[in-house]
This record gives sequence, C-alpha cells and structure tokens, in this order.
Amino acid sequence: MKLHEYQSKELFAKFGVAVPRGEVTSDPEEARKIAEKFGGDVVVKAQVLMGGRGKAGGVKLFHDADEAAAFAKELIGKKLVSIQNPAGMVVELVLVGELIDIAEEYYLSVLLDRAEQRLVVMISKEGGMDIEEVAAKQPEAIVRVLVDPAWGLDDYELRAAVKKAGLPPKAQRQMVGMVQSLVKAYIETDAELIEVNPVALTTDGKLIAADAKVAIDDSALFRHAGYAEQADDAMENELEAEAARKGIAYVHLGGDIGIIGNGAGLVMCSLDEVSAAGGDPANFLDVGGGAQAERVKECVEIVLMDKNVKGLLINIFGGITRGDEVAKGILAAFDDGDVDVEVVERIEGTAAEEGLKLLEGSRIIGAKTMREAAQKVVAAASG
Ligand code: GDP
Ligand code: MN
Repeated sequence: MKLHEYQSKELFAKFGVAVPRGEVTSDPEEARKIAEKFGGDVVVKAQVLMGGRGKAGGVKLFHDADEAAAFAKELIGKKLVSIQNPAGMVVELVLVGELIDIAEEYYLSVLLDRAEQRLVVMISKEGGMDIEEVAAKQPEAIVRVLVDPAWGLDDYELRAAVKKAGLPPKAQRQMVGMVQSLVKAYIETDAELIEVNPVALTTDGKLIAADAKVAIDDSALFRHAGYAEQADDAMENELEAEAARKGIAYVHLGGDIGIIGNGAGLVMCSLDEVSAAGGDPANFLDVGGGAQAERVKECVEIVLMDKNVKGLLINIFGGITRGDEVAKGILAAFDDGDVDVEVVERIEGTAAEEGLKLLEGSRIIGAKTMREAAQKVVAAASG
C-alpha cells in the first residue's frame, strides 16, 4: 500500500526526519488560509499516488496566497497524466507546504535487495530528477550500502558512503542521521520502499525531506491498523481499498473476467489460462488457505463490485480449503439472483464431490480442468 506524500512526511516526522511544515486540504479556500499562514511563500502539491507528478503539472511554487489558492482550485478535481501513469489520476487533496530555499537536491531511498537478502540504501548527489535516468546515464553517481536488517548499519560505514556520494561536508552528518532514521522507519513500519527525492539542502545548510514516498508491505498491514484504515483514500483503486480493509488479497487488473482461486500460484495460472483462451483478467484474488463459506462469499462480492466483470472463474484445488465450503460461499453470494455474470467453477480436491453436489441445478457452469474452465468462462462472457 502506497502512502501519500503528506502521510509519508507525517511518518518521517515521527522518526525524527526533518520535513517542511504543511497541511492538506480538498478546499481552495482552506488552501488560501494555509498559504497565508506561511506568508504566501508555499509549494502546492497534488496528492496523487503516481510518479512524475512535478512534470505532470502537479507541483508549483508561489509567493502569493491568492495565486496558490487559484492553483489549488485548478488542481482539485483535475486529472493528472504522467509518463509513469498514462491513465492518469484525479486529484482529491493538495498539500500546501512552506516554501524552502533549496541550494542542492539529493536522492535517498531504502528498499529490499532480495538477491542479497539485505536492505539497500541508495544515496546520490544527483537528486530532484528521474533516478532511473541517473542510473542509466551515470550509474557511478548512485552509492549503494547494504544493511543487515537485524544488525542495522554502522555510522562509520554510512559516513564513508555519504562521502563517496560526493555530498558537501555540511550535509554529510545530517545525511547519516536521515538514513539511520529512515532505515529504522523502514523496519518498524514493514515498508517495501522509502524514497526521498529530493532531499533538499537549504541555503542555510539544513537537510530536509522535500518529497516523500513510502510503500508499506500489504502482507504486514494487519500489524499497522492505522494504515489499513486509511486505505480508502490512499489506495490507487477503490476495490483494492475495500479488499484491504477486509484483508483480502485482491489486485485489480482492468479486464472483464473475474478470477478467484486458492493459493497465489494457482490464481496466477488461472490468469494465464484465461489470457491464453483470449480473455482479459479483471483481477487477481487469492481466497487464502482454508477459506470458509463466508470468506468465499466476501471474495465473490469484491470481484462483482467491479462493474466491468462479465464472467467469473472460480478455480479451487482443495487441500485445507474444502470444496463444499467454497460451493456454499458461491451460492450465498448469488443468493439474491440479480447478478448478470457468467460463472464457471472448477473444484478439485478435498470435499470436491460434496461441493459439486451443492452446485447441481444452480446457474454455475462446471468444468473438469482449469483450461476447460478458462475457455468456458471466456466463451460465456463474450456470448
Ligand atoms: P515529484 O515530481 O512528484 O517528484 O515532486 P517533488 O515533490 O519532488 O517536487 C518536484 C520539484 O519541485 C523538486 O525537485 C523541487 O525542485 C521542487 N520543489 C518542491 N518543493 C519545493 C520547495 O519547497 N522549495 C523549492 N524551492 N522547490 C521545491
Ligand atoms: Mn520527487
């Protein structure tokens, strides 16, 4: 789950990282009041979860509260489109932050290096711009430091890295402090990514996080109830937000064939089979192990909330998941009967026979194999 910039900055502040003062609002009048508090010297920033926001026209600097308010008014409700997000996203909130005088812009991120089984900190003097471009054109400008998540990072190692990155002496010690705080934040919040681009060195020599990007591992959201609750305004997709609140592993994909299976591998195979049959998957949904009828019903309901869905494939290979529980859940989900979606099931394994018996005479179309089920659902949905 990605956090908005303002949420990421709140998180940074909790871990002692300097961030500019600022407030969010969805109301241009409110934006004016916030801007006035900072004497009109503000940056107005669209809070959308997409890269390339500045280039897309979502970030602008002002020295006048009226002009800042006019820009806020223009942004709110507008769709921003960037190279990273060609479909675009509608701005609902803007951050009005105090303007800081930036002398230099650096880059800092913390992420996971799966091959090394370590965290990796990336530091560069070339901040503010697209880091992929820096990586391609001058890879030596990015210094990488591996961190053992259990032992953390020694200051001396970090000091050497910061020096190697070419940061000026007055920024070095502050950068070491910022990295240590963000590594701590990364571990304690179960983050997948923390990125600060730019880390600003102000004209009076202070290091401050001028932008902030945090993604929390979805599988750890149960440990961070606060974030899961914020899911509705922080998820890219409404259905994913609803699924996150219910603890359902759902990824929206945009096609018209809904897919439910048990186990991530089986669900991914099902996606492939639907694609191979000429269909376009609407989602990924893993009901998890041992799902009870009530859970299956909730999962079917989430998939059907997507109004593009014309067909639904339910592919179960029962181990601890029981076919009869799945069947009960499917029937319960279609109880009120006014859903106009073709449903194909393939249920194998534990209690499959009991499950299939329950589905006899219902509107659910049966299939013997995953491939047959995929072909049937694609044909039914297009017919
Ligand atoms: P992004 O395009 O979504 O990454 O948005 P950023 O928050 O990184 O802002 C883009 C650029 O705007 C930064 O690289 C800065 O150059 C500039 N910027 C953002 N906030 C401020 C600020 O408070 N003061 C100044 N002078 N520039 C800022
Ligand atoms: Mn940025």
